[in-house]
Amino acid sequence: MGCLSKTGTRAVWAGEEEYLMQGATQVPVVHSVSFGYRDMDEWLQVASGKKQGHIYSRNTNPTVQVFEKKVQSLEDAEAATSAATGMGIISSMLFALLSPGDRVVSVKDTYGGTNVIFNEFLPRFHIQVALCDTTDHEQIEKEVTNGCKILYLESPTNPTTKIVDIARLAAAAHKAGAVVIVDNTFATPVNQNPLHLGADLVIHSATKFLGGHADALGGVVCGKKELVDTIYHFREINGATLHPMSAYLLLRGMKTLHLRIRQQNESALQIAQYLESHPAVERVYYPGLSSHDGHETARRQMQGFGGMLSFMLRENSLEAVSRFLPKLHFAHAAANLGAVETIVGPPATTSHVECTLEERARMGIPEGLIRYSTGIEDVEDLLADLKQALLTL
Ligand SMILES: *Cc1c(COP(=O)(O)O)cnc(C)c1O
Repeated sequence: MGCLSKTGTRAVWAGEEEYLMQGATQVPVVHSVSFGYRDMDEWLQVASGKKQGHIYSRNTNPTVQVFEKKVQSLEDAEAATSAATGMGIISSMLFALLSPGDRVVSVKDTYGGTNVIFNEFLPRFHIQVALCDTTDHEQIEKEVTNGCKILYLESPTNPTTKIVDIARLAAAAHKAGAVVIVDNTFATPVNQNPLHLGADLVIHSATKFLGGHADALGGVVCGKKELVDTIYHFREINGATLHPMSAYLLLRGMKTLHLRIRQQNESALQIAQYLESHPAVERVYYPGLSSHDGHETARRQMQGFGGMLSFMLRENSLEAVSRFLPKLHFAHAAANLGAVETIVGPPATTSHVECTLEERARMGIPEGLIRYSTGIEDVEDLLADLKQALLTL
């Protein structure tokens, strides 16, 4: 794949060529658990990593490898490895790179599951975690200088779409010798490339926008080869392997990534602007709005503002949310995001289901918040749908 090609072309073509069999134009789903060798020398060479090839599908698999190569190309990375889910790759990465006595600096608004690793599991292994206010860049810089093995960032965040200045914080973390990791799930490689902004590793829950059809789970990390190799080595042993069939579904979804994201960027902005002007809506969180705190930073570091937004009803209660959601005709009320269908839900049952009511309050996540994952439907229909649901609220 020519490295000069653009994102859309890479989404369609990258990573596939050497895996197409007997003239097939599509990547095969290789369900085989193991790969046989008649020549013992060759088997030994592949097993010891001296020769390209596959031994056992918990470690590597051709279909899974195409998926990894495609994401690697989209993020302009040296290497990539995958796992069965986003949390599979995040936990593999943290446990592969950290040791007792290490210190992690991150922000309060990370994805709920990541937050549980920070608050519950890492401390059990005597790994300190400092969680800063997500938009307080001075505090993050200060914590980084107090000792930091990993700076872990997310931008935009889930569900209030906060923006962190990746280049600024990566520079501070590198001075302290830290590894900089960015969860790029919300932005996708079409809208943001953290490696270009100084990150060492970028992760995706491929379950969301990369796959885009809410029919396959998956996770992927890409970036510096040395780091990716360390993560792969842990993941092949913990066994949280991406299934070949899921890899295929994710690959099929990724072929239209750029088209979906372009549409979702456009529709989400229109919807955010509409909601911002609606009297039944208290507040809208979308980085594409000039009223958003992180708008200027987002403009600098993103090519598009994404399909995710959230908004708070004037009547700020879970009860109002539960009256509102069933009125929408063109939205699944569900826990995922990033699909072709519009998806809505409150943090209490989606991004922050793992947290208690008090924890959500402490994180500044209102109970009357609705996360809105913009689908690829015609935006006129989505606007009309919101209009009628808000009218009868
Ligand atoms: C969903 C999500 C994850 C976790 O991914 P799974 O595939 O559900 O394990 C991590 N980070 C973000 C931002 C997410 O939205």
